[in-house]
Amino acid sequence: MTHTSLLTLSPEAPGMRVSPTLAINERVTDLWAHGGKIHQLGFGESRFPVHPKVKEALIANAHQKSYLPGAGLPELREAIATYYRHHFDIEVAPEQVIVGPGSKSLIFSLLYILGGDLILPEPCWVSYAPQARLVRKRVWWMPTRLTEGYRPSPEALERTLIRAQREGGDPRILLLNSPNNPTGAMIPPEQLAALTEVARRWNLTVISDEVYALTAYGDVPHVSPACFYPEGTVVTGGLSKHLSLGGWRLGVAVVPPGQEGRQLMQAMQSVASEIWSCVAAPIQYAALVAYSNDPDIEAYIRVCAGVHRARTRHLHRALEALGVDCAPPDGGFYLYPDFGAWRRGLEAQGVYTSEDLARYLLDEFHIAALPGTAFGSPPESLSLRLATSYLDAESDAAAGALLDAFRRAPDDEAFVETTCPELLEVEATFARIARLVGQRG
Ligand code: PMP
Repeated sequence: MTHTSLLTLSPEAPGMRVSPTLAINERVTDLWAHGGKIHQLGFGESRFPVHPKVKEALIANAHQKSYLPGAGLPELREAIATYYRHHFDIEVAPEQVIVGPGSKSLIFSLLYILGGDLILPEPCWVSYAPQARLVRKRVWWMPTRLTEGYRPSPEALERTLIRAQREGGDPRILLLNSPNNPTGAMIPPEQLAALTEVARRWNLTVISDEVYALTAYGDVPHVSPACFYPEGTVVTGGLSKHLSLGGWRLGVAVVPPGQEGRQLMQAMQSVASEIWSCVAAPIQYAALVAYSNDPDIEAYIRVCAGVHRARTRHLHRALEALGVDCAPPDGGFYLYPDFGAWRRGLEAQGVYTSEDLARYLLDEFHIAALPGTAFGSPPESLSLRLATSYLDAESDAAAGALLDAFRRAPDDEAFVETTCPELLEVEATFARIARLVGQRG
């Protein structure tokens, strides 16, 4: 058979796009490079400096040049198991731990290895559905409600399972993410217990994306579904969020104990060995320090979470005061406001969808944000994801100054009022838009 094209792409290839979060970051960086003043609320990246002890460990291990075992340095797997037992109160043996180049690649490997269809709460993080598409997995969307803080309910899960089954699906995997990107919401322990009860009855594997666990700052304690459903839960996490080390690419997965968990681990190691071989050796040695339960590093993690709390809650209050519906955040550095209350005024400006709204904010007000469509919300929902992490924190020095000021400030409010001019400017801009579209403010 002769082909008409030199590059024969798979049928999925035309639908493959650069992740919207990375794409907006590139666009904003380009605008900055040309002298534009843009408020970056589109890209969520914790910006604080590398903790000095972790940095020293990386420098001291620059000479480590050999490949390491695919699942990770044995001492590191041991340290992570101890750390998880201590912080998350889950029984973890080192053999259940694998490290990979970011939790993103570990989640991808899990979706590749695990059979059956995937259930995703809507809204959810941008990469789950595209990853499912890459491994040709069917996705079933589970609706959540803004009035319930976008927390997935056991009833909605059950309804989604029944619908999937009725429509010929084979739902086998449930993805949970708490604290949540994009909503900042956390699932309280009772609700997790109820969700895992449904998961157990339906024999689902839960992938629990806990990469924001140590950024939790609200009243809801971070609890892993693995506490309730250890035999069916895979936990993923890493250093990207609480230690601002996204570019270091160190993610963690903890597989269930027992025979099935061992089989999953073997398959994960196979993927690791055939695709990335191992996480960069110096990074793994530095991660040993990050996972050593060092009191200075643990205190640093808490201060970083405190800064995210002060800033994200401040913006939340400002938006609510303008009549915007927004679930209160409990962790991470995101908000997922729904500007539906401004719809009439926005339509008069030619804004009908979340993508129109994101474009309008960037073009007219120099605010970069991600449209709800990137998170699975319907186009007309007028939801945006706003990340507070970049504001007032473009450089290491600026981000470090935020930490110092936060340590000195009497309270969250005083900290924001005296130290976060860019955040205040963004809030003032939203108030200006509110007036423009005929709302309070
Ligand atoms: N899950 C969620 C919800 C995220 O927001 C991110 C990063 N944006 C990741 C996973 C992946 O993080 P990493 O690959 O850096 O561990």
